[in-house]
Amino acid sequence: MSNVTNIQAEIEQLGRQIFDLIDKDSASRSLFGKRDFYGRLMEWSMRDPLFKTQMFRFVDVLPTLRSPDEVVEHLSEYLNDTHTPVSTFLQGALRVGRFIPPVSAAIIRKNILAMANIFIAGSDGDSALRNLHKIWKEGARFTVDILGEAVVGEREADEYSARYRSLLDFLSNRTQTWQAITSHACNEPPFINLSIKISALCARIHSADPETSIAAILSRLKPIAIRAKELGAFINLDMEHYGLKELTLEVFKHLATEAGLADYPHLGFVIQAYLRDSYEDTEKMLRWARQCDRQFAIRLVKGAYWDFEKVMAAQRTWEVPVYTSKAQTDTNYERIARLILENRKYAYPAFATHNVRTISFAATYARTVGLGPGNYEFQMLFGMATSIRRALINLGYRVREYCPIGELVPGMAYLVRRLLENTSNEGFLRAKFGTNTSVQELLRDPASQRAQEDEHSIRHPERSAADKSRSGGAVSSDPAPLFVNQPPADFTVSSVREKMAQAIQSVSAKLGLKYVNVIAGRSRISDQQMLSINPARPDQIVGSVSKATTKDVVDAVAAARRSFIDWSKTSGEDRCQFIERLRARLKESRYELAAWEVFEVGKTWAEADADVSEAIDFCAFYAQEMRRLNAGRLTQKTAGEVSVESFLPRGVGAVIAPWNFPLAILCGMTVAALVTGNTVIIKPAEQSSVIAARFMSLMQEAGLPEGVANLLFGDGETVGALLVVHPEIDLIAFTGSRQVGIEIWEMAGVTHANQKNLKKVVCEMGGKNAMIIDTDSDLDEAVLGIIQSAFGFQGQKCSALSRLITVGDVHEQLLPRLIEAAAALTIGLPENPGTDIGPVIDRAALEKIQSYIDLGKREHTLAYQGEIPSELRGFFIPPTIFTEVDTASRLAQEEIFGPVLSVLRAKDLDSALKIANDSPFALTGGLYSRSPKHIARVRSEFLVGNLYINRPVTGAIVGRHPFGGFKMSGSGTKAGGRDYLLHFTFPRVVTENTLRRGFAPEGGSQV
Ligand SMILES: Cc1cc2nc3c(=O)[nH]c(=O)nc-3n(C[C@H](O)[C@H](O)[C@H](O)COP(=O)(O)OP(=O)(O)OC[C@H]3O[C@@H](n4cnc5c(N)ncnc54)[C@H](O)[C@@H]3O)c2cc1C
Repeated sequence: MSNVTNIQAEIEQLGRQIFDLIDKDSASRSLFGKRDFYGRLMEWSMRDPLFKTQMFRFVDVLPTLRSPDEVVEHLSEYLNDTHTPVSTFLQGALRVGRFIPPVSAAIIRKNILAMANIFIAGSDGDSALRNLHKIWKEGARFTVDILGEAVVGEREADEYSARYRSLLDFLSNRTQTWQAITSHACNEPPFINLSIKISALCARIHSADPETSIAAILSRLKPIAIRAKELGAFINLDMEHYGLKELTLEVFKHLATEAGLADYPHLGFVIQAYLRDSYEDTEKMLRWARQCDRQFAIRLVKGAYWDFEKVMAAQRTWEVPVYTSKAQTDTNYERIARLILENRKYAYPAFATHNVRTISFAATYARTVGLGPGNYEFQMLFGMATSIRRALINLGYRVREYCPIGELVPGMAYLVRRLLENTSNEGFLRAKFGTNTSVQELLRDPASQRAQEDEHSIRHPERSAADKSRSGGAVSSDPAPLFVNQPPADFTVSSVREKMAQAIQSVSAKLGLKYVNVIAGRSRISDQQMLSINPARPDQIVGSVSKATTKDVVDAVAAARRSFIDWSKTSGEDRCQFIERLRARLKESRYELAAWEVFEVGKTWAEADADVSEAIDFCAFYAQEMRRLNAGRLTQKTAGEVSVESFLPRGVGAVIAPWNFPLAILCGMTVAALVTGNTVIIKPAEQSSVIAARFMSLMQEAGLPEGVANLLFGDGETVGALLVVHPEIDLIAFTGSRQVGIEIWEMAGVTHANQKNLKKVVCEMGGKNAMIIDTDSDLDEAVLGIIQSAFGFQGQKCSALSRLITVGDVHEQLLPRLIEAAAALTIGLPENPGTDIGPVIDRAALEKIQSYIDLGKREHTLAYQGEIPSELRGFFIPPTIFTEVDTASRLAQEEIFGPVLSVLRAKDLDSALKIANDSPFALTGGLYSRSPKHIARVRSEFLVGNLYINRPVTGAIVGRHPFGGFKMSGSGTKAGGRDYLLHFTFPRVVTENTLRRGFAPEGGSQV
């Protein structure tokens, strides 16, 4: 392999040649330095990040705005906080717009459309033809991509596939006379060239079940590829975000080995050099090519989703998959370019870049391995680098332009990506054309630029996030200690899928065992047994448990009371360490625990994993919070006096837990009580007894002292009620239904003669959660957010969405897409990785939900109901959507706890808010909107415990989204929040006068 330093001089020479040609080209100012609307927008976006954010957001929402008033209002809302000359200029236009909105709106729309037309070749094949012809006339080639809205249903995926097939026919027809012979035509890929995104060919891509997704994608991709082969055309698979990378490469391999295509070399895929594993991927694909002795094309790009990947990884506490220094990406690009060029026999290289250094490197290195310009090509994006394209053609290189075609709505997302790329601080185009960086600097070897970041902070983004949160923003954030959430399992990784599959297999061999009560560390067996069954297969017994007797309750409370003496005196630090040992046990058993949830409560893989991860988080978070409380709090700095607040445990607690988050909530309430020094009796829900038994044994493994936590199985009416009324119970932590919650609240309020403490009730109940869909919302996102919120875990989350409120006429556009998205959900056995909808918890739940569905059918309009596959015998209820529901109806007021969604219409935001707040509950709520004003209003007027904007309303993360509501949703506590532990304690203040004969210790205010 040649040494890069040896060819640096040649690279620079070629680079300078290219720059000379660019500088002579009149098109070199086409992206930067123009004095029109686009030029000013770019200039000010580069100068003012706030303006850039606001303007790009406005550009994104513009196509959905229908009336001139809406355009004027949105722009003025977005520009409210920005103070650039452009915004002053636009504010002027808006003042006119307030009197004659059609005039202003028309001008604004025209300018932004003109901007879109810089980067989008046409709205369809026909309208793009003129641009394609122009590119061809200049001596370049093209690849065409159809911009599509996110596909949410099978029909949309079918349509997308059909559009590609007809585009192939169209191009084949209309470009026949263009297909001229060029100087290096012998190696030239086919003239007609399409670029396709696999996400557009499948309504629901399942990371846990790639085989099914691959089959669905291939069913739509293969006909396109076969037609391409018939017409002698080229098909390239674009690369999207990291979550789809493995799948895309697998799809490619399947496609390339399909009967009828195995010998067809004109298929290609993309490698993104910003990915840390991209070199390895390239090696793997080349190895595969050697094994199958087949050829393909590789388009080498740096990658278009850099910000997205970083944000997603940070949110999930996953390792960041991309390099975080530009020099690393550039260096890796050159490394992969060498690898591909050295394997030219198998791979036709397409270097997709606008960076002259990168281009010069590829061309120079190609020459050193004996490859001429006909053996590879350069690719650019339409409208991005016309002068570079021309320079390369001039120098005899083959160039292809990537030409997106499509409508305005999907076009805007693409436009925003291009605007971001052009204004990116580190981008080559900005450096060359925007800030006039020197040629020498632009042609520097990226490997010589020292990566300045600390490798550790790259790999652990959560730490830098915590650091950032400390620096504060508009809202002050507490100097939060470094709590790091448990990363959810990444089922795109095959080894992770295997672990889960193995856990399911091994748990299935353990079904049907017996479990017993635990009192003072000893097993307590009773005569009566209770069965826990698999709701997906009611004849399958998950386990059988001993039902606690009244004596067991009395003994358990006595044991907890005895243990309280020592446990309450155990140091806070020791208690934290016990909780951390428990956390380690939970982590070790994460897949096994998730598998139990699959069998015992019917959770899908992802839902089960999320519950286990949350339990792990509760341990880490509450241990951290306890250390904070343990340090005590100096109430005020006063000379001569020290007042310190500290926190005592309340006593003996009853933890009465639900089945819907069978581990997380059970663990969260227990750990909160224990870490603060209380002892407990745990009464799990009957339906999830086995998971509770597993939790208890993990606590014992972690070194639980005798009697500190006791476990009693039984039903709420007997065991639960006995615990609540017991005079020795000081604290009740309950999560469950409104009815039971209120009963507990009332029972706990009765004070017995020999009772020592007033009972504290930490009570979290249900919700009748609403989400408002505004007229300007991003429906691609909203539809998926609604589906996840309403039907995730069959709607059996207290946070689940059950009232969807559509504003104005958004209903008409939303509903058909929502129905399609619901129809794309797979109803099945939860142990199958591709299942979206499993069973509801038991027969009683099934019957109750069914009675609401019957009511809905009588009183409202059934807009959609899924079908349950005939082979399923469990407690399955299909996703069901009702429309024409009014706010006073039972369907809109009562908690259903199942996959039933009611759609209510509101004429405007005022009435939407009225409907949203018209509920006895106040747990979660949501809004999808792109109006800053509407977002601000909903933020202050939609009164719920957890309000989510432009995202689903379920999936609260410990520490990030302290969870809990008010009204009939709960007593105002926030699980996973910084004040939660206080509910398990008695605060106490000790004040000492430190003044002695007029002398006070200096700085004497230590805690
Ligand atoms: C024809 C064509 C097809 C394309 N197809 C795809 C595709 O299928 N999938 C896809 O993802 N992209 C695709 N792209 C987009 C491409 O990823 C971007 O246009 C490209 O990354 C810009 O790189 P550059 O070499 O032109 O510019 P440069 O300015 O040299 O590089 C910019 C790139 O560097 C990377 N980068 C920026 N800052 C950092 C940082 N701090 N740390 C690490 N890396 C950083 C990013 O990838 C950024 O896009 C395609 C581009 C072209 C031209």
